[in-house]
Order: sequence, then structure tokens, then C-alpha cells
Amino acid sequence: MKEERTIPFVDLVRQFETLRPEIEAAVTTVMKEASFIGGPHLQRFEAAFAAHTGTKHAVGVGNGTDALYLTLRALGVGRGDEVLVPANTFIATAEAVGLTGATPVFVEAREDDALIDLDKAGARVSSRTKAMLPVHLYGQLVDVEGSKAFAEKHGLLFVEDAAQAHAASKGGKRAGSFGRAAGFSFYPGKNLGAYGDAGAVTTDDADLAARVRKLANHGRSEKYGHELEGVNSRLDGLQAAILDVKLKHLDAWTARRQTLAERYDQLLGDVRKVKKPVTHERAGHVHHLYVIRVDQGRDGLRAYLKDRRIETGVHYPIPLHLQRAYAHLGYAKGAFPVAERWSEEIVSLPMSADLSEAEQDRVVAAIRDWSKM
Ligand SMILES: *Cc1c(COP(=O)(O)O)cnc(C)c1O
Repeated sequence: MKEERTIPFVDLVRQFETLRPEIEAAVTTVMKEASFIGGPHLQRFEAAFAAHTGTKHAVGVGNGTDALYLTLRALGVGRGDEVLVPANTFIATAEAVGLTGATPVFVEAREDDALIDLDKAGARVSSRTKAMLPVHLYGQLVDVEGSKAFAEKHGLLFVEDAAQAHAASKGGKRAGSFGRAAGFSFYPGKNLGAYGDAGAVTTDDADLAARVRKLANHGRSEKYGHELEGVNSRLDGLQAAILDVKLKHLDAWTARRQTLAERYDQLLGDVRKVKKPVTHERAGHVHHLYVIRVDQGRDGLRAYLKDRRIETGVHYPIPLHLQRAYAHLGYAKGAFPVAERWSEEIVSLPMSADLSEAEQDRVVAAIRDWSKM
């Protein structure tokens, strides 16, 4: 039997090969100009990213966690406050809250799409709740009108965690433009990824953008005039120049992900034991991840695929309320049964714009073989 190539979960090497001349030129330019911190590449990328998102301002920061943290801090969230966060997300969503001194308050997931369940969020609101931080999980927008109405009803700030949802859209508006502000991550494996850590905040609010920029740059707006104690969390010139190159490809990559997701849906349609993800609007979902559910034998399926050189992931295997990091908040197993069941049954299949159809066929054939066992 011929040795088959490993199908990586996300193929960043193949992506680089398609971009090599553009990336090398951009990197060389930054080196030649020595515009490492701040400078024209950062400005150009910020303007381009704001335009792409449909917001007035984008502020580059060091990573997606800081994008959320600095946004909350700039909005005045801090000690004594509570912020609603979905139970099933990457820990960064909750860390951003904790970093401000506030407490994350977890909310149950919806049964069909794993997004935050607004019907169950009301019971989580207290007199201390100051903001809500829903996550456009896997690249699918949360109920944005519902979130807005919920925030208004309870007097909360609505901030989007858009780390997985670059260009996800509804009614012509894109992720990052629905809330008061949004945090994006450009972690390498995200739909728009840097070659290292990077992130951005988007907002229409000029004052808020200026406050985030100041906080991210040692609390200053001039070289040695520090108005408050901030942090060092800047998007550097090299990453900005790389992101500026990649942003021009994002729409094509998104379309490719959508094609692949639709193809997975079709090919897996009649496979026993496998539940396909629920996609509310094909054109608006950017499929950062393609997540299937299996009632039983999730780990067995993953091992079966691994033996056939197919990498998979689980996003996420432990819901945040059951993480040791949040043991002090006192949640018990069973607190959020829907989120808990998701964590036991999900498998993320290989998904990136660089996945070939032949590779996708191999993934599906292996799942089909496993399902017959
Ligand atoms: C990746 C991610 C983040 C954090 O991004 P970093 O750039 O890794 O700090 C935040 N929230 C979600 C949902 C993410 O997937």
C-alpha cells in the first residue's frame, strides 16, 4: 500500500507556497524601512481591515485575547463587574474578562448550533452584569439582532468575540460591526492568520478606538507622556504587512471554505452515526471549523482517522465552567448539559482553503468505513 500524505488539520505550509513571492516582498520591505513598530504597514492594514469589516476603526494589537481584554477595559469593565460568556468557547474569551478584574459568567449553548443560548442568558444576568461577550463560534454568527435586543433590554455592553469569524456576514454586515466593538485574532490557524500572534479591535466609536490604542501602547499618546498604566500589546509592522497581503485573499479563501463545507455536507449526508453541522446561511458562515457530532465513539473515530493519517481536532473538549482554571467559580458538572454534551460528541474535520477535494474525499471515505464498523 502506498504511503499516503498526512492530511493536516490546517495546511499553513501549502498556503505559504501559494503566497511566497508576495510575502517575501512584503517582509523585505518592512526590513528595509525598519518600520517594525507602528509605521505605514500597520496603518495600511488597519485601514484595510476596518474597510473589510465595515467599521470606522480598526486598532491592531498583540493577539486576540488582548483585543477582547483591552476592549472591555477601555469600556470600563473591571473589578466587581460580571460579563456573560458562552460556556463552550476557547478560554481566551473568559480570560479577557478575568484580566480586567471582572468575573466571567457562563451561559449554556444551543442544542442545534452550539452558539450562545440567549433564552437561557436572562437567568444569568445580575445587578453586576455589565457586558455580554458572545462568540461567533466556528465561523457562524450568533443571533446578532437577538444579542443587540438582549443587551438593550438588560442595559449591557455588547462586544463580539469575532476571533473565528473574519468576514462572516448577515444582511450585508460583517462580523465585528454588530456590537459596540469586537475582538479579532490573527493567530496563524485563524481564517486570516499572521505568522505569529496578532489581533485587532474594530469599532465605529472613535473615542473607544483611541482608548484601546492608548492602553495597548503603555497608556500613552505621546512618547513619554503616560496618561495611565497600560500594557504593551501592539501589532508589529512585519505581521501587519503579512496580514495586508493575506487580507486580499480572504474573500477567495472564504468562498473556498464555503464550497468545501457544502461538499462535506453532501458527501456525509447519508453516513450513519454522523450529524452534520447546522448552517443557518451558507453565504454568511465562514466555516473556520467544520464540526461534526457523533453520539458515540468520538474518540474511536478520531483514532481511526489518525491511523489513516488524517488530523482532527476537538473544539472544545472541556467546557469552561468545568476547567480547573475556573474551579473557584464553583460550577458543577451538569450545570450546562447542552454544552457538556457538545464537548463529548464533537470532532473538527480538516478544513482550510488549501484542502484539496481529493483529500476531502479521503476524509469522507475513512469516516464512511468507520461508520460501518
Ligand atoms: C483564537 C481565539 C481567541 C484568542 O485569540 P489569540 O489570538 O489566540 O489570543 C479568542 N476567542 C476565540 C473564540 C478564539 O478562537
